[in-house]
Amino acid sequence: MHRLFLKPGRESSLQRFHPWIFSGAVRELDGQPQEGDLIEVYANDGQYLATGHYQPGTITVRVISFAQTPADPAFWRQKLERALALRRQAGLLDAPDTTMLRLVHGEGDGCPGLIVDLYGGVAVIQCHSLGFYRIRHELAALLRELLGSRLEAVYDKSAAALPFKAPITPEDAYLLGSAQDWEGTECGARYRIDVEGGQKTGFFVDQRENRQLLRAYARGRSVLNLFCYTGGFSVAALQGGASRVHSVDSSKRAIGLTLENIALNFGPDAPHEAFAEEVFDFFQRTDERYDILVVDPPAFAKHQNVLSRALRGYRNLNQKAIARVAPGGLVFTFSCSQVVSREQFREAVFTAAAQTGRTVRILHQLSQPPDHPVNIYHPEGEYLKGLVLAVE
Ligand code: SAH
Repeated sequence: MHRLFLKPGRESSLQRFHPWIFSGAVRELDGQPQEGDLIEVYANDGQYLATGHYQPGTITVRVISFAQTPADPAFWRQKLERALALRRQAGLLDAPDTTMLRLVHGEGDGCPGLIVDLYGGVAVIQCHSLGFYRIRHELAALLRELLGSRLEAVYDKSAAALPFKAPITPEDAYLLGSAQDWEGTECGARYRIDVEGGQKTGFFVDQRENRQLLRAYARGRSVLNLFCYTGGFSVAALQGGASRVHSVDSSKRAIGLTLENIALNFGPDAPHEAFAEEVFDFFQRTDERYDILVVDPPAFAKHQNVLSRALRGYRNLNQKAIARVAPGGLVFTFSCSQVVSREQFREAVFTAAAQTGRTVRILHQLSQPPDHPVNIYHPEGEYLKGLVLAVE
């Protein structure tokens, strides 16, 4: 096996189980590891520290184990078993009314570079590193073994997520089973899942609990769901008895899926309308007020260097949203940008609130559910932040 030695004094973060090794900490490579190879990491004095996937770049190694055990099928089986046990403990794996959840959440499950989402009968694997990509067939077989016949198919959707310099030309494909019209349930609601054409792995299961909170507030109220994607918040609002719901997304395909999901759950006469347009155009074109607004934009900042622009974006968007709430109404506002901290997001929203001149209070501070666990040594894994504001 390839080996890597750290510079003196650079072992402490690994001894605390931080899952990444940055290139600046590396003293010497022993052998010529290729991207995706397993590599053992040693302290300067030769003490074994960890084993991980090698990847040339800023993050040189993503650690999969802090013990010198072989990464054989039994090793991966145990990893997946642990991930499933965590979901089972949270009541998510065998829930009667929810069949969609995240099975593996990267660093949060000791698998940096691997995401697995389950949507009813299909699991979608997304590898962000070549190390996991190489063992995708093995992972698919293990998932089938652990989940049994409820798992009808496994789709690999890594092409867009893999490092673009990797020496491969990946193509998304079924690793097990074949294409079907997939459908899953979340808290009693049905959703069509477009695993092949949809964004990310197909659905945003991370908002499950927050959708249920909206549901609890929705009775008799008008709701505007901005950045609706496949309409999760719109469906939850109607489940909760909203008097009417408007959904907005710039993607025609997303709006199509939203309409399909509304019809699937509430038939053709649901009090719902969808608008395929930019949120800012919608704001400009209309002047209607709503009892509840949901603001769940895509990540505004993917890198630290665009942080200030992203914060400006959150301020601007939230100011417009807060201005649109009917007196006594609510705003559910979110950020899924990893590089924007909870504190920075709060500040951006507070500034926006102050600029509207309205009285705003915080009712709830929201995050991600237990199928998206956060490794305490990898706080970046806590990406979803939300606030529910009461606006006078
Ligand atoms: N709230 C959704 C997830 C949102 S993902 C859910 O619960 O599933 C972000 C969505 O924002 C995407 O569907 C994308 O098409 C849409 N989007 C991005 N920029 C936009 C813009 N300027 N105006 C409207 N929609 C936008």
